[in-house]
Amino acid sequence: MEKSEKETAMFQWSDKKILIVEDDLITYKLLSIVLKNTGVQIFHAENGQQAITCCREEKDFDLILMDIQLPVMDGYTATREIKTICPRVPVIAQTAYALESEEYKCRKAGCSGYLAKPFRKQDLFALLDKYLSAHT
Ligand code: MN
Repeated sequence: MEKSEKETAMFQWSDKKILIVEDDLITYKLLSIVLKNTGVQIFHAENGQQAITCCREEKDFDLILMDIQLPVMDGYTATREIKTICPRVPVIAQTAYALESEEYKCRKAGCSGYLAKPFRKQDLFALLDKYLSAHT
């Protein structure tokens, strides 16, 4: 087992569903590869409008990973709308702009967490663990 596999083998989320909103298909592929060992069920939306449609059809996502720069509808607008459909779902924003004002805008739109791209695998897992794992 490689070191990276050991690190993620401790996370088992096969009973969890996450929605990845990402227009960059390479980033999406990388995320799904990184998350594969956890067994988490992954859904994909390529823009904000699609993300809203997914949330209307599939209301029980455990977490949404939301890119901010998206075609058709940006991540802020999509998050605000999603929060009216399923208010309890945690939305983690991921954006290439590592600015404090960006994080503020994400939180104001309703995001629970924030990842600046490119992010380290351990930061992604730490955030997912916070919302997906049952902590007693
Ligand atoms: Mn993007």
